[in-house]
Amino acid sequence: MVMDEKVEPFYNEVIRHNPGEVEFHQAVREVLESLGPVLVKYPEFAEHKIIERLCEPERQIIFRVPWQDDKGEVHIRRGFRVEFNSALGPYKGGLRFHPSVYLGTVKFLGFEQVFKNGLTGMPIGGGKGGSDFDPKGRSDDEIMRFCQSFMTELYRHLGEYTDVPAGDIGVGTREVGYLFGQYKRITNRYESGVLTGKGLEWGGALVRNEATGYGTVFFADEMLRARGDSLDGKTVVVSGSGNVAIYAIEKAQEMGATVVGCSDSSGYVYDPDGICFDTIREIKEVERGRIVDYAARRPNAVFRERGKGDATIWSIPCDVALPCATQNELTGRDAATLMKNGCTVVAEGANMPTTPEGVRAFVDAPGVAFGPGKAANAGGVATSALEMQQNASRDSWSFKHTEQRLQEIMADIHHTCYETAAEFGSEGNYVVGANIAGFLRVGRAMVALGLV
Ligand code: NDP
Repeated sequence: MVMDEKVEPFYNEVIRHNPGEVEFHQAVREVLESLGPVLVKYPEFAEHKIIERLCEPERQIIFRVPWQDDKGEVHIRRGFRVEFNSALGPYKGGLRFHPSVYLGTVKFLGFEQVFKNGLTGMPIGGGKGGSDFDPKGRSDDEIMRFCQSFMTELYRHLGEYTDVPAGDIGVGTREVGYLFGQYKRITNRYESGVLTGKGLEWGGALVRNEATGYGTVFFADEMLRARGDSLDGKTVVVSGSGNVAIYAIEKAQEMGATVVGCSDSSGYVYDPDGICFDTIREIKEVERGRIVDYAARRPNAVFRERGKGDATIWSIPCDVALPCATQNELTGRDAATLMKNGCTVVAEGANMPTTPEGVRAFVDAPGVAFGPGKAANAGGVATSALEMQQNASRDSWSFKHTEQRLQEIMADIHHTCYETAAEFGSEGNYVVGANIAGFLRVGRAMVALGLV
């Protein structure tokens, strides 16, 4: 998309003010490209400098995380928490532990989170955090020591009414447990609502673990239903094999689709019989193994190592693609391959997994529906807000009830994106619909709260 001349100066200022943070620039650009018509219709946003304020995080925290490995060797990693926007509620968003994490990653994720949380209609602001710590190959004790050191610094910035982190890449229930334990120890408070994604025995909520993957599939199904179709009988490819991917695979198959491919950072597997949910979950969640192990256990599955040859997971023919691994994993070339092979629906389970060229190719293609992450994967954070509700009322809801709430929330988000896109002259463009609807909710709250 071409950026409207009214918003271009804001984008140029973001680049000047945040040098080198390329993912953050990309996320800002993608939102600003949608906002030209909003500034024309609602001049008060320009008057209150809402865009400039939205692009500047309210607070950015960077800290040292010293920890010791099992041999006694000392390591120093960097911790981050970007508290981006609290107009709608406490900062809310996950923590990512991955060696690629730097300030630009956390800012892009935090920026996306602000709009996503706005779209859910729930009372949550946006934030994100993490570390360049690499959990791969580390023992349980090492993970625990790292989490304890990380929380020893971060705890002072958190609170159920202030900032509520959750998991993301490299941070699952195990890590949330160690983080919560250390928070409880330091503060002497059993403040369940300070972290979400907790285990069921200690304040967690049913469906939170499954929510992002399930929600992405519900969103894809809504996109198909808007065109008189459904997921039933469709062939699906899901990238990744972590939390989001595994439960996307489960729900897609429950809804009658066949998932024929998934991946990790070492390569991908193609299984014409349909990915076996129990096998992939056992390998990834219990054994913490690699995707090649899956191919070894299934008669017709094949493994393709990453970087060997031109093929990527997106070369597998499918009707529906669900990128659920990481940012910029689906390129313009991948988009062309997918569409050539008949793919007509893409729903992003990961955050910003499609490059700008890929997004453009999908959005411009007639008959192709593209659901951006801030809408399609919002089920995770929405269910985190449901976990906070249960913590606040000391209640716990059944799986069925919570899943039904999640499905309703995803249908509402879909409806909001669809209607907003149509209102602003971009019918069927979920990117425009999600960006504008998220912006309107946060922007209106910011105007109402004054210059803070
Ligand atoms: P996990 O750590 O559970 O899984 C991540 C998966 O992506 C793994 O299979 C991993 O492979 C793969 N992956 C990670 N980095 C790369 C890379 N650089 N190249 C190729 N593959 C990679 O994370 P989640 O499933 O929680 O998160 C996945 C995505 O979903 C992220 O974009 C996250 O921000 C987003 N998301 C997550 C939510 C949640 O509730 N968990 C909520 C909303 C969005 P390997 O193991 O080999 O590294």
